Amino acid sequence: MCFGVRDAIALASKHAEAGPLTVLGDLVHNETVLADLRARGITIEQEPTKVTTQAVLVTAHGASERALGNTRALGLHVLEATCPLVHVAHRAVKKLVADGYHPVIIGKRGHVEVRGLTEDLADCDIVLSEIDVLELKERPRFGVAAQTTQPIEKVRALVELLRARFPQSEVRFVDTVCQPTKQRQNAAIELAQQCDVVVVIGGAHSNNTHELVNTCGRYCPRVHHVQTAADLRNEWFADSDTVGLTAGTSTPDHVIAAVEARLRCIEVTEPTPLRTQVQ
Ligand code: SF4
Repeated sequence: MCFGVRDAIALASKHAEAGPLTVLGDLVHNETVLADLRARGITIEQEPTKVTTQAVLVTAHGASERALGNTRALGLHVLEATCPLVHVAHRAVKKLVADGYHPVIIGKRGHVEVRGLTEDLADCDIVLSEIDVLELKERPRFGVAAQTTQPIEKVRALVELLRARFPQSEVRFVDTVCQPTKQRQNAAIELAQQCDVVVVIGGAHSNNTHELVNTCGRYCPRVHHVQTAADLRNEWFADSDTVGLTAGTSTPDHVIAAVEARLRCIEVTEPTPLRTQVQ
């Protein structure tokens, strides 16, 4: 688990001991962690208008000033668990706009972090694919930043495409992809190159987990996404010798340990158990 998610969970747990607490949105995109938080008496709501506790906690993904203001206007006490690296991205976008650049965010439209990055902007574009970049309107100055969990290779490729598409425009790129995401992506590439099968553990709605699946899929044809050990299927490992195991940034250690333990017990075509590499 990355430090941003770990700190957010710790903050929620600490405040829940002091009194009733509602988390606004998914603190992490991982059902196992969310179930654990509910068991501690923490309520999870998607809309501030549905909150019935005095204290609300904004997740590690952050929120726009507008959303924070609207929540406070309801009389709620707002606690922020925004990851410092998401704050870095917010400051980068603000500076690009202040310096006169038209902001372009490389990220997933509608994702909570991207909403937080863009909701305060008068005008911006959100792109995720080559087609999105090719369809942009020409501007004299583009200022590009990215959702923190986007693969850096993809981000750099889209920035290069933007430069090629608009050679007359000035393009300033600020790398806001976070270090834990970069490390995990690089480790996943190394892992996928050495394995017959890769298992990626993470929540169904976790962006960085989906990106890990995509990245591993470029280097290994057999990649499976699971949320828990119960999702593993013996037939995925037929004729395989080495299985790689990696996980999204919000996956708890005990879930990873359970998947690894289950994998080590799987009997495949050979009488010897699978070898497992963990990143
Ligand atoms: S994935 Fe990166 S930006 Fe997001 S919470 Fe973790 S460290 Fe922070």
